[in-house]
Amino acid sequence: MALPQHVEFLIIGAGIHGLSAAWRLAERLRERGEEVAGRVVVLDKTGIAAGASGIACGVVRNNYFQPAMRKLMAHSVGIWESDPKGLSYHPVGYMQISCEAMHKDVASIYEQQQAIGYESVFIEGEQQCTYYMRGIFDDWQAKGITSVLHEKRGGYSNQTKTMYALADRVEKLGVRIITGIEVKGFKTENGSNTVSAVHTDKGDIGCTHVIVGAGPWVRDFWKMLGLPKQITVKDLAGNVHNDVDMWRYWQLEEGVLVIDPDMGRANDGSIPPVIHVDTDAPLYSAVDGSKITDEMWGIYYKPDWHFGGIQGGASPYKVETPVDEVAIDPYGPSSPEFVSSHEFAHMWVSALAHCQKRYEGQMPKYHKEASGGIGCFTADSFPVFDHFRENVAMIADSNHGWKMIGVGHLIADEVLGERQELLEPFRFGRFERGELHPVSNSPYPWS
Ligand SMILES: Cc1cc2nc3c(=O)[nH]c(=O)nc-3n(C[C@H](O)[C@H](O)[C@H](O)COP(=O)(O)OP(=O)(O)OC[C@H]3O[C@@H](n4cnc5c(N)ncnc54)[C@H](O)[C@@H]3O)c2cc1C
Repeated sequence: MALPQHVEFLIIGAGIHGLSAAWRLAERLRERGEEVAGRVVVLDKTGIAAGASGIACGVVRNNYFQPAMRKLMAHSVGIWESDPKGLSYHPVGYMQISCEAMHKDVASIYEQQQAIGYESVFIEGEQQCTYYMRGIFDDWQAKGITSVLHEKRGGYSNQTKTMYALADRVEKLGVRIITGIEVKGFKTENGSNTVSAVHTDKGDIGCTHVIVGAGPWVRDFWKMLGLPKQITVKDLAGNVHNDVDMWRYWQLEEGVLVIDPDMGRANDGSIPPVIHVDTDAPLYSAVDGSKITDEMWGIYYKPDWHFGGIQGGASPYKVETPVDEVAIDPYGPSSPEFVSSHEFAHMWVSALAHCQKRYEGQMPKYHKEASGGIGCFTADSFPVFDHFRENVAMIADSNHGWKMIGVGHLIADEVLGERQELLEPFRFGRFERGELHPVSNSPYPWS
């Protein structure tokens, strides 16, 4: 099929955000009784789910220390819940299980969840937490846990299944997805700031609106738009920091223990909530008993039939390569450089055994294939959802984004002229204005 000459809504990236935006735009146009075909087009240089959305663990949670993140997640969880089957979403819930250093932070998350009507239960005290956890898993053995936040909503979804279902849904609504086409730049005319066309390796495509959902490739689109590589950041104490890199990369460490996922079921035979443990209890090797760490560590896991075992991850590590030199392609498990390490496997399986007896002695079952991938984070590790050059909307989720299926919808509404309050705390201008999000004591850059 020939390349379109002009498209009203041109979306770059067939990841979760690009397809979510396409979904909403197509629905809105249809609601107005308007034609979709030819007006909404998604471009992807590789294919559907070729980026972070194709390798995400798929966890959907509300648990964030930042009020604005929590409100946004509640909106997205609502979209997951609107069609669990169609979106391959498992609403099993989510548990944040923490040591004393995080008790206060998590208590405030619980209070604010109550305030926004997000259903959760909060357990406090070491004995009470052990009792509660043994009610779910009778082999629970993690020590030093003094709070458990049990979110009754949330859970996980099966990334590639969700992505193909979304692609199918938008195509049925009239959206065209063109794969194998790489965007190389943006064109403007007569000194205007407005993007009049995107320049691709197959030719130029004129456009009225552009939405960029480029996941880890956001760095390159930021550059194509002439946005600053380094920025000024005013921190929460009012101190001004100049020349801060806008982007940085972290390696997400994830893997699979290839055992029958049924082994991960709860006492009553149900699929348990996604488990997330953050603790400073010393962690010992499940292989030789040596000490792995006595500093704060964190893991998450779930039995997952899509991955074929117990799947999960641990805290990421910072990629030290200068940001411009980070090789994003080939991405994910195909990367020769950025895949989960052997140390990760050792730590993660040991941590599983630390939490539940059933995982003791399972190290040999850790899968041997490459897994994990890099994520691109902003200067404060929270998303930027904003509009640049008059007609370019950017969804830069700072790697928070699988769960944020609703953001594409909200951006689509903004492109149609309706500002969205939920997105306001995520504008680019917050760095200079000093309107940063509060940070918690979690070992992750994203909580
Ligand atoms: C290992 C891992 C696990 C994760 N687990 C979770 C999780 O459990 N829960 C959660 O909420 N989040 C998770 N995340 C984060 C989440 O996956 C991402 O935030 C989200 O998928 C990003 O979606 P996206 O649509 O912005 O980008 P992507 O899914 O990366 O899609 C971007 C697309 O843009 C295309 N593209 C790039 N450059 C060009 C170009 N020049 N021209 C045309 N197309 C281009 C790419 O081919 C790609 O398909 C995880 C991330 C990783 C790496």
